[in-house]
Amino acid sequence: MKELLIIDKQKYLEENYPFSDIPKLTDKKRCIHCDGIITVKDYKVFVDEDGEEYICCPNAPECNGAVIDWIDLD
Ligand SMILES: [Zn+2]
Repeated sequence: MKELLIIDKQKYLEENYPFSDIPKLTDKKRCIHCDGIITVKDYKVFVDEDGEEYICCPNAPECNGAVIDWIDLD
């Protein structure tokens, strides 16, 4: 998977976030894969061979967690 550089992270999140409750870039979440506390704005985007884009954990590629693995802190 190749990392995609996102210039406008807010816009990208609004257009590609898989759920309806789009978080703020300043929100903190816990990634259940690496158990790290992440700030949403630090997300990374990776694209696979088919051109499919994935919003991933800021700790990628060491962590293979994606946006679906983020949970609220409380
Ligand atoms: Zn992670």
